[in-house]
Amino acid sequence: MVLRMSRLLVKTLRDDPADAETTSHRLLARAGYVRRSSAGMWSWLPLGKRVLDNVTRIVREEMDAIGGQEVLLPALLPREAYEATGRAAEYGDLLFRLTDRKGTAYVLGPTHEEVFTRLVKDQVASYKDLPVILYQIQTKYRDEARPRSGVLRGREFQMKDAYSFDTGEAGLAQAYRLHREAYARIFRRLGLDFRIVSAVSGAMGGSASEEFLAPAAAGEDTFAHCPACDYAANTEAVAFTAPPADAADHPPLEELDTPDTPTIGALAAFLGVPASATLKNLLVKVDGEITAVGVPGDREVDLGKLAEHLAPAAVELVTAEDFTGRPDLVRGYVGPQGLAVRYLADPRVAPGTAWITGANKPGRHAAHVVCGRDFTVDRYLDVAAVRDGDPCPRCGAGLTLGRAIEIGHIFQLGRKYTDAFQVDVLGPDGKPVRVTMGSYGIGVSRAVAAIAEQTADEHGLCWPPEVAPADVHVVAAGKGTRTELAAALAGRLDAAGLRVLLDDRDGVSPGVKFTDAELIGVPVIAVAGRRADEGVVEVRDRRTGRREELPADEAADRLAAMVAVRAATA
Ligand code: ATP
Ligand code: MG
Repeated sequence: MVLRMSRLLVKTLRDDPADAETTSHRLLARAGYVRRSSAGMWSWLPLGKRVLDNVTRIVREEMDAIGGQEVLLPALLPREAYEATGRAAEYGDLLFRLTDRKGTAYVLGPTHEEVFTRLVKDQVASYKDLPVILYQIQTKYRDEARPRSGVLRGREFQMKDAYSFDTGEAGLAQAYRLHREAYARIFRRLGLDFRIVSAVSGAMGGSASEEFLAPAAAGEDTFAHCPACDYAANTEAVAFTAPPADAADHPPLEELDTPDTPTIGALAAFLGVPASATLKNLLVKVDGEITAVGVPGDREVDLGKLAEHLAPAAVELVTAEDFTGRPDLVRGYVGPQGLAVRYLADPRVAPGTAWITGANKPGRHAAHVVCGRDFTVDRYLDVAAVRDGDPCPRCGAGLTLGRAIEIGHIFQLGRKYTDAFQVDVLGPDGKPVRVTMGSYGIGVSRAVAAIAEQTADEHGLCWPPEVAPADVHVVAAGKGTRTELAAALAGRLDAAGLRVLLDDRDGVSPGVKFTDAELIGVPVIAVAGRRADEGVVEVRDRRTGRREELPADEAADRLAAMVAVRAATA
């Protein structure tokens, strides 16, 4: 098929959208692939829809190859199902909630474990019907707090969600392995550079879980990698092992005058000590109850880790209002000694360690504050953010950190959902067997943005062949024979089975057409220009910029052969 730019609903923009913060957001909007409809909601225009469809096709092919059966469930779901598993509360404000005319409560599905579990309860009776892998490619809804990065994080987005059902652990492990391998094939075909890392299970529940991360500066996840042993994990999942207790003798606690030192930076500078000698106490609300969290002053509290440890309790930062009527909580000068709220701490705040910390009085701190002597920790939680160079939990070498986009997530859920809905099948001995389950997601629309993030260059998008909206972008760089030669070449390529984008726009200068071709990012650009009278076209490789002039017929044959080879090796 030949897509003609003269008729195509695509208006390229010279300037970046004012609110665009990431490369993919900027370029997908400028090249006319997507258009913002409202906050976190995106319309896919013809070029974008083609890329999205290509991603979807690859995902579908690889899911079918592992025996997945495609289904399509509603997106509008009874809220009661999500209440039965506790996830309505866990997801909290992330859930879009609505009510029908009869007053029945619904949600827009953020992911579908509950309804798939019920479907299987209803449809599967015997161990002989298992294992089964069901999947769908469907619109999901999450009322994200900050839907800022274009289709990377939408409030409405496309997800492939798959669910496996088995009678035992071996079956679940096998389904998990099949998905892990299928995902690696999918992301390879999508042209993505990716890492498989250990993850925390979050609101999903269950045990083993890994994420597929695409390294990119725009990513909102941080992962740690060990160059020595190849350990890789989301930083939220990196476990820290506490050092042995420190038995040193410390001088008695001493209060110090430290005016205008509400931050660790100001305090360390004032006293001339390293930040690591100080204790940082962050106040949060856990299910509404004010709680202090202690970490060494040179570290941040990883709110993701904290939320994970305290789930299903909701964790929020305190606001200015939380201090009213609480003279005991002195903002910027909080210390754990004599504090009237629950105290959680990182294992680095080990018994016997001494710290400089707030004196719970304005402008004052205390030194030689010893854990176990001057204060106690109500509960130890591994909550300090991992830093570059921290020891690898597996081999002890220094970890390196990187930013990445989460493109997929696989879970061995076990029986969390089948217990909630009591899903049993009849076993070989006639006794009921509780079914065990896995769940496996891919951010299909997010993958489009992740590919754009990893492949774009200073000229624009630069699609890997299998996902590109066309195989060849033919440019008529002028009128008369140039237009005719471009049309003839497009026709030949089309007849050979190639997907062609033809820039046949009248009254658009060759310069603008070239700029647009580079912005749109089809892998091969064929230009009918200067030597069109001789029947010669210029073929450019979008990625390398390599150019070659050759007769149009030869170019058509060569491009057809190139695409055929690619199709055969895909
Ligand atoms: P994140 O941490 O980025 O919010 P998540 O861990 O909550 O994602 P999952 O519940 O694991 O997401 O969903 C499966 C996949 O769906 C994710 O791996 C991601 O690729 C995709 N996804 C999740 N939220 C969004 C979103 N708001 N927009 C686009 N894709 C998303
Ligand atoms: Mg996830």
